[in-house]
Amino acid sequence: MIEIACPRCGARVYATTEDYKEEQLEVYAEKLCPRCVQPGDRVCLVRCTDAYTKLEPNALGTVSFIDSLGTVFVSWDDGHTLGLMERAGDRFEVVRREER
Ligand SMILES: [Zn+2]
Repeated sequence: MIEIACPRCGARVYATTEDYKEEQLEVYAEKLCPRCVQPGDRVCLVRCTDAYTKLEPNALGTVSFIDSLGTVFVSWDDGHTLGLMERAGDRFEVVRREER
C-alpha cells in the first residue's frame, strides 16, 4: 500500500501497486482522491470489495451523492446504483469532473 498526498486538497490517498505503478501515482492521486469527488463527476471503477456486485473494473458511472461517512454513491451506466467506500478498500478514478 502506497500513501500519497492529493495535489488538490492534500488528503492522503491510498493505492496499491496491484492497481498502479508507483511512478503513476503522482498523476493518479488527484483522480483517486475520495475527498475531491463531487456529485456529477464521471467515475471509473478500479476495484470493488462488494462480492455480490456484477460490476467489473472499468465500469463507468456518475456520482449521485456522497454521504456523511464518505460513501460515494454512483449511478452506474448499466443501470444500478452502488456506493463505494474508500475505507472498505473500494477504489475508483475520476475520469471527468463536472464543470462548476
Ligand atoms: Zn483531494
